[in-house]
Amino acid sequence: MSQLILILGIIGLIWLYILFKRKPAKKEKVSLEMVRCDTCGVNIPKSEAIGSEELWFCSEEHRT
Ligand SMILES: [Zn+2]
Repeated sequence: MSQLILILGIIGLIWLYILFKRKPAKKEKVSLEMVRCDTCGVNIPKSEAIGSEELWFCSEEHRT
């Protein structure tokens, strides 16, 4: 009986490990949030945008 509990415990740990590993992938999807360039108004993914929380730019040229 104790072996069964041990096996279930291992399965539980593997399951938690898989869930933990999947979380960063979900965060990447959140980072695909679109932002608008403050200079030309074009919408670009936040990961490709240059700037801060308030102001975003599509390229270094538009930043200045
Ligand atoms: Zn721009």
